[in-house]
Amino acid sequence: MFSKLLIANRGEIACRVIKTARRMGITTVALYSDADRDALHVELADEAVHIGPAPARESYLVAERVIQAAIDTDADAIHPGYGFLSENAGFARACEEAGIVFVGPPASAIDAMGSKSAAKQIMEEASVPLVPGYHGDDQDPAVLKQAADAMGYPVLLKATAGGGGKGMRQVWSAAEFDEALAAAKRESSASFGDDTMLVEKYLTKPRHVEVQVFCDNHGSGVYLAERDCSVQRRHQKVIEEAPAPGMTEALRREMGETAVQAARAINYSGAGTVEFLLDEDGSFYFMEMNTRLQVEHPVTEMITGQDLVEWQLRVASNELLPLQQDEIRLQGHAFEARVYAEDAAHDFLPATGTLAFLQPPEESANVRVDTGVREGDEISVYYDPMIAKLIVWDESRERALQRLAGALSEYRIGGTVTNVDFLYNLATSAPFRAAELDTGFIERHSELIF
Ligand code: ADP
Repeated sequence: MFSKLLIANRGEIACRVIKTARRMGITTVALYSDADRDALHVELADEAVHIGPAPARESYLVAERVIQAAIDTDADAIHPGYGFLSENAGFARACEEAGIVFVGPPASAIDAMGSKSAAKQIMEEASVPLVPGYHGDDQDPAVLKQAADAMGYPVLLKATAGGGGKGMRQVWSAAEFDEALAAAKRESSASFGDDTMLVEKYLTKPRHVEVQVFCDNHGSGVYLAERDCSVQRRHQKVIEEAPAPGMTEALRREMGETAVQAARAINYSGAGTVEFLLDEDGSFYFMEMNTRLQVEHPVTEMITGQDLVEWQLRVASNELLPLQQDEIRLQGHAFEARVYAEDAAHDFLPATGTLAFLQPPEESANVRVDTGVREGDEISVYYDPMIAKLIVWDESRERALQRLAGALSEYRIGGTVTNVDFLYNLATSAPFRAAELDTGFIERHSELIF
């Protein structure tokens, strides 16, 4: 096992990784920008290295400086968290060249999944089911339109370089196609410096169900059940749960095995998530694979009793997977709600402010709060305004949901607006309780936003 781990991230995920590393007896090194001098992740780590000014592209995103910090502190591995450099193949490669272990998959696997269209080609060859669509190289608008006409409307235009829902456009009829394509291309160029598009059949009431996979460097791969992340706002997840409601054992196995097959197709290693769209008729389609730890990994930890960061560190240090498939047992039900500084009344505009008062619900075996901030800390304009992830567990979905509502009602945050009331409305609404989930849930229930 590593003796010293550098965490190339900030906020809750840096704190989360430090906790596990510490429990495993690994010394930790934090990085901090000017804005994060007094941040919680710096306080929790054994050592800390200043990495640059507040904007991430001048600090947390500067690969050379991150690697230099690891060299200077004698760290033998780097955990990238999520976001920032976590899915940057060049960074993974640079770590390797510097003789430092990147806690994540091989750079080649990141590359393979980095482009949505290349990923779809690989998955097609590996017999992983895909949403019907066009992901070819010929980007002639007439060719794209012909593909859309042939599959029938509605279709979804997606930037192959896309992420976070950017560069996506629904097209409801042939008449709208040209204008939508132009808009999606503009947005994609601006966000990703690339305007290559793919066209997919737009499923009107799908659920977003993703499978947690893990592979080691010795040829083993397992799945740790699934998460339902259908409750989204503008393609951003709001509340996630595990297991997915209504899942049968047979479907779980089929999706799980397909996900492992997808990982194997790219010689995967470490933690990965294979995202599927699950249609009303039980068919599921590969959407993309995220080659890192997901924000919502704690719900999987709660129902499996496993520490996924520990798994990552073990796999990265060449150990075998801690469990085999038939040893992975699921128990109970877990939810995660993402607590954000944002203004639900004003189109969820990100908010800033000093957390003058911060009283999270009390933590227990059933309630977990993953956070990177304390009372008095500032939610700044520089980073994602997430305050915490509230995670709850109980024996059944119904009881877990009661826990979620209870914990949300205990949350007290002063100094910035938050989405806590909105989360509470969601968690206590009849359709959510009835698990009437699909990716259009929030749009359809706008009465829950006030
Ligand atoms: P991004 O990488 O930008 O997050 P994804 O491809 O993961 O984009 O899609 C984000 C979300 O968009 C999904 O979770 C789902 O809600 C929706 N979505 C994606 N593809 C389709 C599709 N073909 N039909 C319907 N909804 C889709």
